[in-house]
Amino acid sequence: MKKGMLASQVKHGGTSVKAQNKGKPPVHENLRIHYMGFSRMGWLELLWIGRVLVLMQLVHGVAGWGKDGHYAVCKIAEGYLTQDALATVKELLPDSAGGELASVCSWADDIKWQWTSPLHYVNTPDFKCNYKYSRDCYDSYGRINNCVTGAIFNYTKQLFSAYQGYKPKLKYNLTEALMFLAHFMGDVHQPLHVGFTGNAGGNTIMVRWYHRKTNLHHVWDNMIIDSAVKTFYGSDLAIMIQTIERNITDAWSNNISSWKYCRYEKTVCPNWYAAESVRLACKFAYRNASPGSTLEDDYFLSRLPIVEKRLAQGGIRLAAVLNRLFKSEVKIARA
Ligand SMILES: [Zn+2]
Repeated sequence: MKKGMLASQVKHGGTSVKAQNKGKPPVHENLRIHYMGFSRMGWLELLWIGRVLVLMQLVHGVAGWGKDGHYAVCKIAEGYLTQDALATVKELLPDSAGGELASVCSWADDIKWQWTSPLHYVNTPDFKCNYKYSRDCYDSYGRINNCVTGAIFNYTKQLFSAYQGYKPKLKYNLTEALMFLAHFMGDVHQPLHVGFTGNAGGNTIMVRWYHRKTNLHHVWDNMIIDSAVKTFYGSDLAIMIQTIERNITDAWSNNISSWKYCRYEKTVCPNWYAAESVRLACKFAYRNASPGSTLEDDYFLSRLPIVEKRLAQGGIRLAAVLNRLFKSEVKIARA
């Protein structure tokens, strides 16, 4: 693959991933090597592992980008932080993070505090393909502001109050505020986190991802990224991230300022990101993915560019918010 090129930009010369592997698992060389690692295991054990994985998936429910997606968003953001923002982020991070924001970007999924579960997504009316905060940002008990965009506003405000000259509100746990914000900025960029109410953002649409049974939401949280890493990036997430980063400075460089822009000089604009997501959900995620369908090369190769761009946008915008929140002039003025 040409350096600096996303996997999804590679021309396949008319030979599909499927065609190259007729009768075999739908994989490229790297994935086949990965499969061979299992060769010493019996099929019964594999079947058992498979069942446990499916169970884990069912228990997990709505989560957000999988670990890899959240890691990618935060890793990209780290590269775009100003020195001041980076210093404040490091101050706020827990010791367990080892100074790296990306290492705690799935913390909000891991904690499983029940009150936080509606904060990972927002449901929109079926087939409307639009989003409105006042109409949509409720949890299932009808409590307003309990959705992903409400959470982004909330945690941005908490950090803003502490770092932008207002009287710091000490009741806030600013470390948690940072980790929540970093996570939810990722989630709001996953198109099916702003999906339809009737199918819980694709969670109830059962499909096959190549030969595996799963649901459409999980395809967008995990499977597209997993398959891309294995098929195009030598099973190395770092290479996928580096490739996305090269595209930010190359193919997408003219778009970066519009990605970062928020109207009225607002610190963050999650309503905009959510509106983009539901449009992408309609145009790409739900399209040709009816219940019972099998999603293969056509779907994978046409949706991967969307996933990669959303990871890039999530990272760039997370950095932009943190840079606005943690400006040193303000800290000096406050001191
Ligand atoms: Zn999440």
